[in-house]
Amino acid sequence: MSNGHNSHENDEHELRVSKIRDGTVIDHVRGGQALNVLAILGIDGTRGEELSIGMNVPSDRLARKDIVKVEGRELSQDEVDVLSLIAPDATINIVRDYDVVEKHRVERPDIVEGVLSCPNASCITTGTEPVTSRFSVFEDGVRCSYCETIVREDIASLIDT
Ligand SMILES: [Zn+2]
Repeated sequence: MSNGHNSHENDEHELRVSKIRDGTVIDHVRGGQALNVLAILGIDGTRGEELSIGMNVPSDRLARKDIVKVEGRELSQDEVDVLSLIAPDATINIVRDYDVVEKHRVERPDIVEGVLSCPNASCITTGTEPVTSRFSVFEDGVRCSYCETIVREDIASLIDT
């Protein structure tokens, strides 16, 4: 039954690089954000995590997209919420035994608590008394609920990891 047909070999190759057995595929991440996604998930590769990343791949929906595939890991709702801040168009695919069993777009929460650090040094949340940070989420940015500081760019740099 073996044949050396080229397209068959290409399929096999495609299968190897694209399929994971159990885990999560985060698709339609904005181009260049894949490493921030990994930072949010606390993945730096030092604990032997099995993952593959595609960066700046041509996409229909976005001009360029990133894809992150993490073996053996399903994301918590908290992680998805934070993810939505830097990857609002992302699709989360849960894979079990090579099948996509769940697929959904991320939804931006109205409020995120305890996941971002306020950039305002005199904000009550950055003082010595521990106050949990709280940000309202808008279409194009986030606003600190305590000092009203608005952040529109590089939200990833505020993420507590
Ligand atoms: Zn603040």
